Amino acid sequence: MKTIGLLGGMSWESTVSYYCAINEGVKNRLGGLHSAKVAMYSVDFEPIEKLQHAGDWNRTAIILSEAARNIESAGADFLLICTNTMHKVAPDVEQSIKIPLLHIADATAEILVHEGIKTVGLLGTAFTMEQDFYKGRLSENYGLNVLVPRKEDRLVAHNIIYQELCLGKIEPDSKKEYLRIIDALANRGAEAVILGCTEIGMLINQGDTKIRLLDTTAIHAEKAVELAM
Ligand code: GLU
Repeated sequence: MKTIGLLGGMSWESTVSYYCAINEGVKNRLGGLHSAKVAMYSVDFEPIEKLQHAGDWNRTAIILSEAARNIESAGADFLLICTNTMHKVAPDVEQSIKIPLLHIADATAEILVHEGIKTVGLLGTAFTMEQDFYKGRLSENYGLNVLVPRKEDRLVAHNIIYQELCLGKIEPDSKKEYLRIIDALANRGAEAVILGCTEIGMLINQGDTKIRLLDTTAIHAEKAVELAM
């Protein structure tokens, strides 16, 4: 079994989901007392969140690259960055290590292509929904047509992530808001919706709606288990 490298802490609430999903995946496959071999580095999220909102992505790239090198030194065979948003600096992180990076958007897009989905809605932070590092990868590399919520709804989704989910707060009203935004995306033609933020799965899941949801945390974790086996 290979050692999975996890660059987590963004937020730690979702890193917990990764850790559980990866260990469940190994347990389901191997049984007994088997568990995943993991090398994890969990950052302090507060300064990173400040840098994100100040637009200082270069500084975040330096912090994450250093953490990634530590994970590599600890014996990881490949690396996962446990957040969609911070894939903005994935090219810098990738350049700073020799082990491969398992990109969260690639793992998700492969499923969409396999299912024959052409038009997909994307929920996440404003950075993920508005900038090109994520949407662009989905459309250019996989031919997907990506829809994002209208401006006011992007703000609602973004604020719920930083003011609630990253703090472990699960509010019924916020769940209603997310489901409303998902319905709006479906009404505009989305055949499925990507939960493109690693905390959204704490708030909603497939049982809450008929619309196909792709939980990036679960998908990324499952792909890591497959690779580790
Ligand atoms: N975990 C979130 C994501 O997947 C947001 C926190 C962050 O900015 O990294 O995008």
